[in-house]
Amino acid sequence: EYILGIETSCDETAAAIIKDGREIVANVVASQIESHKRFGGVVPEIASRHHVEQITHVLEETFEKAELTMDDIDAVAVTEGPGLVGALLVGVNTAKALAFAHHKPLIGVHHIAGHIYANRLVQEFDFPLLALVVSGGHTELILMKEHGSFQIIGETRDDAAGEAYDKVARTLKLPYPGGPKIDQLAQDGQSVIDFPRAWLEEGSYDFSFSGLKSAVINTLHNAEQRGEQYLQEDIAASFQASVVEVLVEKTYRAAKNHGVKQVIVAGGVAANKGLRKAMEEKFAGEASALMFPPISLCTDNAAIIAAAGSVAYNQGHRAGWDLNANPGLDLERYAQRNK
Ligand code: ATP
Ligand code: MG
Ligand code: FE
Repeated sequence: EYILGIETSCDETAAAIIKDGREIVANVVASQIESHKRFGGVVPEIASRHHVEQITHVLEETFEKAELTMDDIDAVAVTEGPGLVGALLVGVNTAKALAFAHHKPLIGVHHIAGHIYANRLVQEFDFPLLALVVSGGHTELILMKEHGSFQIIGETRDDAAGEAYDKVARTLKLPYPGGPKIDQLAQDGQSVIDFPRAWLEEGSYDFSFSGLKSAVINTLHNAEQRGEQYLQEDIAASFQASVVEVLVEKTYRAAKNHGVKQVIVAGGVAANKGLRKAMEEKFAGEASALMFPPISLCTDNAAIIAAAGSVAYNQGHRAGWDLNANPGLDLERYAQRNK
């Protein structure tokens, strides 16, 4: 079974073909980072325009690399949301046109389900499992009891983890996207500043990163007032220590309380070296097996959309020709709809 995946929810124009749900045949990503860099973030109008310009080339390259044609494809899976509406529309309309013209089934995929299913390209899932999703727009602890079922047991009340990285990076005048750069700096720094950890109420699996972000800004400001200066490396290391400690601790408690067989980490921040190391240390010798996607599959790409799409396809889910971009698509409601 070959699934074609298409992803255009944000600033990556991507297409991929995967075989039998778990094997990548071709995975092409055209990033727009260079075009958005000078604005310090993603500009929606520019993103949509790039997707329109890139999508045909990206698809051609995908089929060329796979040495396959649309005739070989069993279904077309596309990110229907969440994301930027104008960006999503390009992928959704391309997928609809291809599926309709070639008489193939169409599958709508939730972007975060895609991030989670990145891990199934590495190893088969074993339920119940807990997913820590840490991306540019999401920070969630998700319990999965079976394929396609998602229960959010904790989520951020303000900024997402990736968003906090990008905002702190901007404060440090680092180029967009700042997450990878802070990660790199943190490797050479010391956690000398005791930034706050937002534990919230006892037993809560929710997160909050806006207080931490403000604490970083205030610390830099106050140091400047006193004519002092911190090393960028130390700010990065101290900030990362706070983010990582809370993520790891809450994931650990949730994994214990729910007795999960696997703990998987997903989304762009899953590429973070400090998070990977701390998770590995915490879960060493624990009953729950720990999984991370390869670095290249942490950020947006279409192989992960095809991976989630393959499972939905085999569960018999099909989208109609009225499939639309759904910028605020809710994961639990999406799972309900697919029941
Ligand atoms: P969402 O998936 O929630 O819709 P998105 O698709 O924009 O948002 P992703 O592509 O999953 O987000 O991830 C991008 C985010 O990951 C950015 O915020 C980026 O800074 C962050 N990121 C990438 N690599 C690292 C890293 N090594 N350390 C920390 N953050 C990172
Ligand atoms: Mg991106
Ligand atoms: Fe994403």
